Amino acid sequence: MIPFLDLNAQYRQIKSEVDAAIAEVIANSAFIGGPAVKAFESEFAAYQHAKHCVGVANGTDAIEIVLEALDLPKGSEIIVPANSFIATSEAVTRSGHKVVFADVGDDYTLDVDDVTRRITPSTSAILAVHLYGRPCKLEALSRLAHANGIKVIEDCAQAHGAEIGGHRVGAITQAGSFSFYPGKNLGAYGDGGAIVTNDAELAHRCRMISNHGRLSKYDHEFEGRNSRLDGLQAAILRVKLRHLDRWIAKRNEIALFYSEALCGIGDLVVSAPQPGMRHAYHLFVVQTEQREALGAFLRSNDVQTGIHYPIALPQLKAYAYAGQQHEPMRAVRNARRVLSLPIGEHMSVADAQEVADQITRFYRLSS
Ligand SMILES: *Cc1c(COP(=O)(O)O)cnc(C)c1O
Repeated sequence: MIPFLDLNAQYRQIKSEVDAAIAEVIANSAFIGGPAVKAFESEFAAYQHAKHCVGVANGTDAIEIVLEALDLPKGSEIIVPANSFIATSEAVTRSGHKVVFADVGDDYTLDVDDVTRRITPSTSAILAVHLYGRPCKLEALSRLAHANGIKVIEDCAQAHGAEIGGHRVGAITQAGSFSFYPGKNLGAYGDGGAIVTNDAELAHRCRMISNHGRLSKYDHEFEGRNSRLDGLQAAILRVKLRHLDRWIAKRNEIALFYSEALCGIGDLVVSAPQPGMRHAYHLFVVQTEQREALGAFLRSNDVQTGIHYPIALPQLKAYAYAGQQHEPMRAVRNARRVLSLPIGEHMSVADAQEVADQITRFYRLSS
């Protein structure tokens, strides 16, 4: 059986380190704030090549808090990709802004021409998602944003460690949000999230918003909220961060194997990374018209797959009100065709070979 994700196998690799880190937090009763949170924030900032990191309760809150801290005009339009997890667009609405969906390119990230067409005088920001761990076209998006006097922020929930031209994602723009949901490339043992930025003032506002509008005990300067990364999660994340580059390298090794082994097989489409980028390969996604049949065939041969995501955001019931469900978008076609193959540090290249062999068999049998 080749599982899609195996967090238990990962835990077995690092059990003694994780157990010791958890025991230390409990021994010190450092559950909220404390040394592990502080240390993780500075280590994660360094890892993402950012000056500041603010730990928060989850990746959705991280986006909301950045949007609030940026103090964008109330009710302004924020452009988000039509292929993402709903958290991206939800955070926009929750922070009092209007979601405008833009299409994606053949790399699954925002299509710059479509974003250009959707900018209006009410647009205040572009929320770029490094979907599947693949860095988006930030240089072009930043140029476009600059020319229109709007902001770009990055949803890096799937892209810890991803790079463009040697720069890690997150602080390339105004700010980036991260999720440490257990199944992400860097996952906690519960919910967790973070914001990274090079802007000290913005980091300060995010920290205050996430902690009831205060920095020290009872001097609340404004009404904020409660969204903190807790000590146990920070201690676990510190341990895992030390292994993350090795794990991302493993993901890239498997992705490279898949890309070569699956090239020219049936109607499969594999999107190759651009030179100069480091793809974090949170997911390895292929496209085929036979998505359902291939997924079922692999399942019956003990290979787990996933679909990220089966419905494009504008077509979700939740966004019927936005009125973009009938727009012809590549994102809609993607949602019908994408299939995520198993990838991760729990796999060997031999496992990837087994997956590729099964896929080859599927096309041989179905032709
Ligand atoms: C996981 C995810 C989020 C939300 O993160 P949570 O920690 O689950 O709130 C946001 N955006 C994307 C693209 C994600 O994959």
